[in-house]
Amino acid sequence: MKKLNYLSFLFLTTLLFISCGEAEEKNETIDITEDTEMTDQQAEWDDDVTLTQAERDALMPADVVAEFQGGNLRFINDSLTPRNRQARREATGSAQYPTGMVLSCIDSRVPVEEIFDQGLGDIFVGRIAGNFADEGMLGSMEFAMKVAGSKVLVVMGHESCGAVKSAIAGVELGNITGMLDHIEPAIEMTDENFSEDLRSVDNEEYVLAVIKNNVLHTIDEIKEDSPILAEMVEDEEIKIVGAYYDVDTGAVEWLE
Ligand SMILES: [Zn+2]
Repeated sequence: MKKLNYLSFLFLTTLLFISCGEAEEKNETIDITEDTEMTDQQAEWDDDVTLTQAERDALMPADVVAEFQGGNLRFINDSLTPRNRQARREATGSAQYPTGMVLSCIDSRVPVEEIFDQGLGDIFVGRIAGNFADEGMLGSMEFAMKVAGSKVLVVMGHESCGAVKSAIAGVELGNITGMLDHIEPAIEMTDENFSEDLRSVDNEEYVLAVIKNNVLHTIDEIKEDSPILAEMVEDEEIKIVGAYYDVDTGAVEWLE
């Protein structure tokens, strides 16, 4: 009996020892994984930097357009840059040096920073239904470009724009009526190329043409109504470019 007890004791002790060993080993494995994850995350974050004023000022407008194009490709490929938001908040807390500004519609399917893979402090964004430029938006653009030193202004329309469709349909409701007046010139531009029976919200080709003409018209208006921005374009300090966003594919088409 005594011998059996002794053997049982040995057996249990061995079991306990093995169990502890396994637990320690597991703990070590977990620690190693966590360390690796931290290192990987830090490595990813190292790619996420905000530009200094000197770095931003040294950019040419074409460099900024190339970054917008690259960012959109990353968005389409679902490989957005991992953001170190805390570091970005610390870096931009006292000053900002955005590379560009995007004028876009308010549509929920057009999250501008995400579409171009831009982080906190990288770009200015102006949003209004139908992406037109009224006095307030023109002032905002002059601030972004002339005062804050951004290099590129993107005017971006998008597929299935409710504001443009409403303007085509002649919707009248509260303040929406006056807002839609800003899209009228684009409709008139488009009507030149479509016979009366084809000018309808049900004609996708027509709607698409109005959306793109609205972008081009807005760019013309910006240059006409803002001598400050027109002169900056003339002096090649900044570039104003048109864009069209496809809500199905996520792709941005650049308009000439
Ligand atoms: Zn829209």
